[in-house]
Amino acid sequence: MTETLIQLAYLVSAFLFISALRALGKPDQARRGMQFAAFGMALAIVATLFHARIVSYEWILVGAAVGALAGYPLGRWVPMTAMPERIALSHAFGALAATLVGIGEYSNGLSTGEIGSGHMVALGFEVLLGALTVTGSLMAFGKLSEVLPGRPITFPLQNVFNLTLLAVAVLALVVLVIEPTLLWVGVAMLVLSLAVGVLLVLPIGGADMPVVVSLLNSYAGLAAVATGFAIDNNILIIVGALDGFSGFILSVAMSKAMNRSFSNVLFGAFGAQPAQAAGAAAGPAGEMSAISAEDTALRMAYAERVIIVPGYGLAVAQAQHAAKELADMIEKRGGDVRFAIHPVAGRMPGHMNVLLAEAGVSYDKLVDMEDVNPKFPETDVSLVIGANDVINPAARTNPGSPIYGMPILNVSDSKSVVVLKRGRGTGFSGLENELFFDEKTSMLFGDAKQSLIDLGLEIKNA
Ligand code: NDP
Repeated sequence: MTETLIQLAYLVSAFLFISALRALGKPDQARRGMQFAAFGMALAIVATLFHARIVSYEWILVGAAVGALAGYPLGRWVPMTAMPERIALSHAFGALAATLVGIGEYSNGLSTGEIGSGHMVALGFEVLLGALTVTGSLMAFGKLSEVLPGRPITFPLQNVFNLTLLAVAVLALVVLVIEPTLLWVGVAMLVLSLAVGVLLVLPIGGADMPVVVSLLNSYAGLAAVATGFAIDNNILIIVGALDGFSGFILSVAMSKAMNRSFSNVLFGAFGAQPAQAAGAAAGPAGEMSAISAEDTALRMAYAERVIIVPGYGLAVAQAQHAAKELADMIEKRGGDVRFAIHPVAGRMPGHMNVLLAEAGVSYDKLVDMEDVNPKFPETDVSLVIGANDVINPAARTNPGSPIYGMPILNVSDSKSVVVLKRGRGTGFSGLENELFFDEKTSMLFGDAKQSLIDLGLEIKNA
């Protein structure tokens, strides 16, 4: 009877997780999506606590207390800009749990002498993928938080070396399936997997870590599937599969939006080159023309159609609230304001949506790239707040540019452009942006938040 109730609870949890994923795809339902997911997880945990295999609750309580103590501050106080490293850390913990369960089950099996080959396959994958994800995620965390150098570290024949190590780890797994009692082979597989995690992330630049994190998410999910098979737990299999495939789909979507092939992402040899790539050094000719907050305010105050284009600089400056206030002010004066959302603006998927939602910008004001692009030609002012690569026309016009082919927001089609940035700094790709030198573009230099506050004050007086 208890077992049936547990399985029923798992079924409801699985339904909640799938509903959560569905809701997370739409900004106006994302909050509800998170609530579904949290409720589904709570239900799955409570149901598992009734499992017949649990012999004592003490260590479970200790684990729950440690988890809550670590999780609460992480959820509450980590700023939005540090979300990628927070997620990397969560993956490391999740994968560590899977690895430890795998090691525990293996040692149990060794002492009772009961490890069938099917069981060993599941345990092997669990430990291999789990261990690789632990060190890979910790590396990603280190690079993102700048504890480790963010620059890519490369050496000759790196991919061949990494893939060979991975192949040897897989070979060790095969040997273990044939002869599970060879403990030293198990230890060797564990050590190799830990090393592969480090080596795969080594050649990737710090700013590319979000793609890596989402790929590691996928590995952690697959490790959870293996754990589910190893300990015969259905909800782990379902959740792991959802996690694994959503992470995989997200990685593919991100690489597509960044105009990278997925094999390039998969084999890790990316993030090193763009600044030195062809066409980067040359840069566009001409002068940028600076504009004052006062003149910008006049232009904005009388514009009928305004598109605000947020980018990474908005996140750095934490300018989302100031942007919302400015948009409200323009709308009060009769202007129409939209926010153009590029899929890889910022440094993590959905970065702009999250920041603008936090500032209370209503969801119908956020317009995706495909829908907003046709609107630029009829736009009086495009106000770019700390965006650079996602509006670089070279992606459309310069076949020699490393970002050629990347889908961009066609800001250059609008009647006039004002760009808020601090100076001549390049974006993530390290490339110059010819739009900043265009005659229809004016540069309002300064920290984005301060510039928006100044603009707001000037518009009030306009
Ligand atoms: P970019 O990184 O291209 O440009 C950001 C710009 O913001 C810089 O040129 C910088 O110029 C300016 N800036 C920085 N701080 C401030 C500040 N305080 N106030 C005002 N301006 C500031 O950003 P985009 O959003 O346009 O592009 C994102 C890039 O990141 C793309 O290349 C994308 O491929 C990549 N990427 C995105 C991921 C994602 O999931 N979203 C993941 C990994 C990479 P200055 O220094 O002069 O101020």
